[in-house]
Amino acid sequence: SWSSSDSVISTDSAGDAPQSGSPYRVVLLGASGVGKTAFASIFAGAADSMDSDDCELCEDELCEKVIEVDGEAAAVTLLDTWDAETDNQWAQECYLQTGDAYLLLYSITDRASFLRASELRITLRRFRPAQNTPIILVGNKCDLVRRREVSVSEGRACAAVFDCKFIETSAAMQHNVWEAFDGIVRQLRLRRDSKEA
Ligand code: GDP
Repeated sequence: SWSSSDSVISTDSAGDAPQSGSPYRVVLLGASGVGKTAFASIFAGAADSMDSDDCELCEDELCEKVIEVDGEAAAVTLLDTWDAETDNQWAQECYLQTGDAYLLLYSITDRASFLRASELRITLRRFRPAQNTPIILVGNKCDLVRRREVSVSEGRACAAVFDCKFIETSAAMQHNVWEAFDGIVRQLRLRRDSKEA
């Protein structure tokens, strides 16, 4: 259960101080309506009826908490401030440079959102030319089987082309959402470890 970050944190007992330094900044990207807010509230624990105010550090929609992945604590700041509708190019460009890692969401029921995800991936590559920025392509709403417009194999093929991981999720059913968060932490750790090596 992720209901309380306190129960997961154990900074002192963590021998190798995994959270030294600042938290990983994980950014939610995607067209409007794909499920970013739903992802953020699962992360914040709102789905466990926890007071989500606990997680709101400022007026921006961001949530910082410590999660446990593979037995090791990881401090993660999740940003859900992407405004898909805005014309403010400058704000979007800033936003694309703030993340350590990105969850790139589309809805499997909305082909336009899938195309938008591809565009965002290309834009990201421009702003984050480093090859090793962790990105997971997330096909959300996989519970809506009869409204599916994007097949699993299309999603997987797109991720292969874009050289990123792929997962299908359902925020509504809370299916695979934590797997996506855990996956991004694992990739961030791999990158960290390869930097240290
Ligand atoms: P955002 O604009 O990307 O933040 O999208 P929201 O999180 O606001 O979701 C848009 C709508 O889709 C809301 O009505 C959500 O309840 C719904 N939604 C989000 N994720 C899922 C999902 O996995 N399955 C279903 N069936 N609906 C979802």
